[in-house]
Amino acid sequence: MSQIIDGKKISQEIKDELKEKVAKLKEQGTEIALAVIQVGEDPASSVYVRNKKRACEYIGIESVAYEIPETTTQDELLAIIDDCNKNPKINGILVQLPLPDHIDEDTVIKAIAPEKDVDGFHPQSVGAMTIGEPGFLPCTPAGIIQLLKRSGVEIEGKECVIIGRSNIVGKPMALLLLRENGTVTICHSRTKNLKEVAKRADILVAALGRPKFIDESYVKEGAVVIDVGIHRDANNKLCGDVDFDRVAPHTSAITPVPGGVGPMTIAMLMNNCVESAEK
Ligand code: NAP
Repeated sequence: MSQIIDGKKISQEIKDELKEKVAKLKEQGTEIALAVIQVGEDPASSVYVRNKKRACEYIGIESVAYEIPETTTQDELLAIIDDCNKNPKINGILVQLPLPDHIDEDTVIKAIAPEKDVDGFHPQSVGAMTIGEPGFLPCTPAGIIQLLKRSGVEIEGKECVIIGRSNIVGKPMALLLLRENGTVTICHSRTKNLKEVAKRADILVAALGRPKFIDESYVKEGAVVIDVGIHRDANNKLCGDVDFDRVAPHTSAITPVPGGVGPMTIAMLMNNCVESAEK
């Protein structure tokens, strides 16, 4: 029987632990605030931003909202980030991606002070993670490590195959699994014999952004499968990169979509905000 890894439950545990920590910090006179910057009104971004604000409220973190129009120039956005960098009351800065085409994401990410980079996207955070120094970890892959650990999945010595090499999911996922002593392979669109490589995995992370692409022919019997993808299928139902119904019976554990990786991303963002305040 396959274990369904319950991201909703595990993320709730983490949020409850953080809530307690925040209450203690408040008793000691430390307040925590997260600046949440959204440029434009992309509906998907608005949902993410709303969920992040809700999580802040639950845990006891103040969210300082900057909802600015689509027409905002890059310089205007950089000026807001600069203000937040300098504001001692702000512990973390989150710029909701994607940004409108006229704004360069890399420039914006680099403008965030590394000590407030709670998304973990700044090159300094990425470098620190790479060499194992302290710094903020990117939320989705850090959340997956928590999902595995808190579900009792051992990583050490395991064959870990990641499908996808983006800067926000695939690459940092590889580094974090390596840090946990997994044996790591990264696949991408030019990988030859993807099925054969994927079938080596004891832990398979699907982060390729293709709805229900991974079926049972990619999965070794008894593997642990982590599905990072988020899509809407033809019936407007949420689904992942993994064809859950076909794959689940062949796994020892699997994350569903929704209710798997997604909720963990926000929980880890909250974790980074609290860490920022503790520092
Ligand atoms: P991305 O930037 O589009 O990267 C996709 C990666 O998959 C690329 O490295 C690409 O290879 C590889 N790929 C695409 N098609 C492939 C194929 N047929 N075979 C092998 N590799 C293939 O996507 P992302 O930002 O990493 O996100 C991946 C998925 O996770 C998306 O569905 C996204 O919505 C979801 N996501 C979820 C969360 C969450 O909180 N749950 C967070 C972030 C992202 P190349 O590099 O060769 O092009």
